[in-house]
Amino acid sequence: MARINRLSTRLSNQIAAGEVVERPASVVKELLENSLDAGSTRLDVEVEQGGVKLIRVRDNGVGVDKDDLPLTIARHATSKIHDLDDLEGVATLGFRGEALASISSVARLNLTSSPDETGAGWCVQAEGRDMEAVLVPAAHPQGTTVEVRDLFFNTPARRKFLRTEKTEFSHLEEVIKRLALSHFQVGFNLRHNQRVVHALKPAYTEPEQDRRVASLCGPSFIENAVRLDTQVGELRLWGWLGLPTFSRSQADLQYFFVNGRSVKDRVVNHAVRQAYKDVMYHGRHAAFVLYLELDPTWVDVNVHPTKHEVRFRESRQVHDFLFRSLHRAIAELTPADMQQPAV
Ligand code: ADP
Ligand code: MG
Repeated sequence: MARINRLSTRLSNQIAAGEVVERPASVVKELLENSLDAGSTRLDVEVEQGGVKLIRVRDNGVGVDKDDLPLTIARHATSKIHDLDDLEGVATLGFRGEALASISSVARLNLTSSPDETGAGWCVQAEGRDMEAVLVPAAHPQGTTVEVRDLFFNTPARRKFLRTEKTEFSHLEEVIKRLALSHFQVGFNLRHNQRVVHALKPAYTEPEQDRRVASLCGPSFIENAVRLDTQVGELRLWGWLGLPTFSRSQADLQYFFVNGRSVKDRVVNHAVRQAYKDVMYHGRHAAFVLYLELDPTWVDVNVHPTKHEVRFRESRQVHDFLFRSLHRAIAELTPADMQQPAV
């Protein structure tokens, strides 16, 4: 056996990056979640070459104090939780304190931020095998800009797993779509290779929300969906339910959010499938954009580093609530609902 040695900070961060940084889309997800956690109301995303060459996210959130800047790129450093109690009721999208450390170990990352409107800010990046934080002054309005260039430039084995520019961009766009569907009050702008792909204004009213959903999921979905909003005790389910006549050959228009977080969950899937069972041909898939809201202590989001999975404390109760609400909404569809223009 060889002797035991301590891994450098960079190498241990690169190993951790394997769990969360799979492709440009994962970087965009982490950066945008940070911007949303910072209370931003406007997000500008600019990418080049599917995000492999450049990802730049600019926000107008609370920004970061100069003294805290080195900690943004340090592993296990977060402003979002302090103790186990905070973790159990966590309401922010992030809490693990490792995304920026991971990303900066496998790409060239710099973060520029200002916590106020003086126009003065600072830019931080990590250097060397110990990932020492280096700060330089940089002008910036209140908020934060993170630039990530040359993803996996120093990890050729990971780079080989990247797909074509088009494929990487479509994954990245999907991430933005999910976040834009769960944060109506925030404006999103996306540019790819200098071309505007999305320019979404904040959507407050129902018609504005319908318009956002139409522009992200297609106008035919909105024309073939009904709104739903039900609450039983602490559990609320709302959103858009695709008509059974709008069934699809693939499960590609199924969005489910738990407390604003996009999740893939067996309990949810089962409840939805059961609710549509009698009205959907075998092999066809429903279309929906649904939001479940419940007390954050009822759901454990610390199941997987990417947080795509959740665990419900009372999964039976959640399942039954979902099934009953959807089943009733589908049963109550009137012939008028069903006579939507066919697509
Ligand atoms: P986490 O989000 O789990 O806390 P990250 O590595 O993603 O971990 O970010 C580390 C910290 O950097 C955050 O807790 C936050 O304090 C700060 N930060 C990162 N991005 C932003 C941003 N866009 N605006 C304000 N603060 C940010
Ligand atoms: Mg984060």
